[in-house]
Amino acid sequence: MGNFLNLKLSSKIINCPKSFLIKSIVYMVFFTGIFFTLTCSTAFALRSNQKFEQHSGITLPDLQIVKGVIRRGDTASSLLNKYLPLKIIYKISRQSKNVFSFTRIRKGQPYKILLQENNLIGFEYEINQEKKLVVQNENGKFSIFQAPIEYDVDLEVVSSSIRYSLFEAVKKSGERCELAFKLSDIFAWDIDFIRDIQPGDQFKVLVEKRYRDGKLAGYGRIQAAFFTNKGTLFKAFLHKDSNGVSGYYDEKGKSLQKAFLKAPLAFSRISSKFTKKRLHPIFKEYRSHQGVDYAAPRGTPIKTVGDGVITQIGYNKGSGNHINVRHYNGYITKYFHMSKFVKGMRKNKRIFQGDIIGYVGMTGYATGPHLCFRMNKNGKPIDPLKHKSPSAKPVMPGEMEQFLAKTIELSARIMTTQKLASLEKKSI
Ligand SMILES: [Zn+2]
Repeated sequence: MGNFLNLKLSSKIINCPKSFLIKSIVYMVFFTGIFFTLTCSTAFALRSNQKFEQHSGITLPDLQIVKGVIRRGDTASSLLNKYLPLKIIYKISRQSKNVFSFTRIRKGQPYKILLQENNLIGFEYEINQEKKLVVQNENGKFSIFQAPIEYDVDLEVVSSSIRYSLFEAVKKSGERCELAFKLSDIFAWDIDFIRDIQPGDQFKVLVEKRYRDGKLAGYGRIQAAFFTNKGTLFKAFLHKDSNGVSGYYDEKGKSLQKAFLKAPLAFSRISSKFTKKRLHPIFKEYRSHQGVDYAAPRGTPIKTVGDGVITQIGYNKGSGNHINVRHYNGYITKYFHMSKFVKGMRKNKRIFQGDIIGYVGMTGYATGPHLCFRMNKNGKPIDPLKHKSPSAKPVMPGEMEQFLAKTIELSARIMTTQKLASLEKKSI
């Protein structure tokens, strides 16, 4: 069972734009707080548009930087042919294949061209929010590598209370929807952010806010988060263990991660529960339903709820496109009716908790787009909603002292800000 619960934070690079929009849409279709979600989606759309501001040049004494955004159909030659002969561009393209291929550049991503006396001395392309491709030209000798994107990082406290939804509360605090996804990811094992949320719930997070040129460019890690749900306070503290693996723990050092996520889809609606008898929507007769149906728009990403190995992948008349995953201790989870699988999914592939394996669809016997999610233990169907998932390993004894000292420090930071906020209120 080894490291089945390792949270690969670093690989959880905020692949925002796409998943973000899909999540916003899912939410918009199904739930209350529609106005705020619209605001969220609009904000997202606006940000995308801002990305399309083209080629604003900044001139320094002898260094000129041309900034731009990749447009549809852009290639290495369309980007660089003003500055370099085709022969050289081909050479660069070939050379960059092992680092990051130019065929993978995506519309909407920013790039920079650095010129000195009209000679290209550098090219930078932002692969995602974390990494960039760098091409450096030193007298005709090109070095190509990936480098981390640098931000100014401030550790800030964000707090708000919920009236309708987590999105609305995050917007109210002046932050972006992205923060709502980050926060819900931390508590994904304990709180179902659709079914469990109620008015009056509150949150406080200590989060790294990233700035570029003085403007908010996104969020880094959440260092600590407090979430009050139905009167119960959940606390989460980020801790990196001696193996370099990061995860969230409560104030006693117990891991927040569990063997299985509470649901394979974030922000969906349960349309049918696990039951011994239900009227089958197609066969119009009473049959048992040995799974949970999550209604969600076609294309919503589906995550595997735990680490495991794919034991079955394919199509059949009843389940449509489906994947079965074998986990430790005799558990199997099944995901039915997908529109399509994620590229690279195949039998015997090892996958990790939270990996996206496919997308919601209505293949097989289905009356609308949904995911039929099933769970077996030792060959017997069990109700995923009632199943209590075991916790991951706690903070190691040798790291406990250091961990506790850090939780005290982080808690103090969050609480101090609260006091300041209430003092400010009093003085008004
Ligand atoms: Zn079902």
